[in-house]
Amino acid sequence: MTPSPDALLPPIGPRQELVLLARTLLLEGYNDHLAGHITYKQPDGTFLVNPWPLVWDEFGPDDVIVMNEHGEKLSGAWQVPLGIPLHVALHQLRPDVVVSVHNHPLYATTYANAKRVPPPYDQSSALGGGTVVLVDEYTAAVNDVNAAQSAAQAMGFADMALLANHGVMVTGISIRAAHQRAVALEQRCKHAWHVEAIGGGSPLAQVVQERSMSSDGNQFIGFWEAMARREIRRDPSIIAGAPR
Ligand SMILES: [Zn+2]
Repeated sequence: MTPSPDALLPPIGPRQELVLLARTLLLEGYNDHLAGHITYKQPDGTFLVNPWPLVWDEFGPDDVIVMNEHGEKLSGAWQVPLGIPLHVALHQLRPDVVVSVHNHPLYATTYANAKRVPPPYDQSSALGGGTVVLVDEYTAAVNDVNAAQSAAQAMGFADMALLANHGVMVTGISIRAAHQRAVALEQRCKHAWHVEAIGGGSPLAQVVQERSMSSDGNQFIGFWEAMARREIRRDPSIIAGAPR
């Protein structure tokens, strides 16, 4: 029986979810120093954003920024990250996307730099499903609006992108879905790197890929929650007070 998420995590609010997503992904390779941004669309149309220039295991719920759909800060003590135009362009084109994550994890960025999307070689590499495309449109600075729009357009309706000579973009309809995909994408590239280092292998059979392919994050309840609990054990202050 699938456990209820409510039994697996204490009550947390959206700011706390964003903090936990950043901290869990930092451990999964989303750790390129000050790089990286997460946007989390709220029911009122605003977005929660990680604060700049704080690293992903440094900020807490009260540091999270609120911005509007144009990327303008509405509240928060810190700055909106420099690269946010990419997220703004993506959310404008993709109203289905609730969470988007950008960073430069080592293995996925290695394949992005090689301009190649590796296949999943094992089930964990396909977790969270979704399609991956290579986007080779990101030729200007991270804060260039035109470059951001062309990158978002090139991504189309893909769920994840390897951004050539840059990094990755991962989307999801929830924090849980984005977490699964972000973990799986870096794992997919890391495992492919190792498989190819020993002469190659056979990609995961399509039928097994499809079994791992729930795109809503609800097929594998417990994975996100377990990783989030680990972060709460490391820093209980994340959930101190009322959910927020
Ligand atoms: Zn970047």
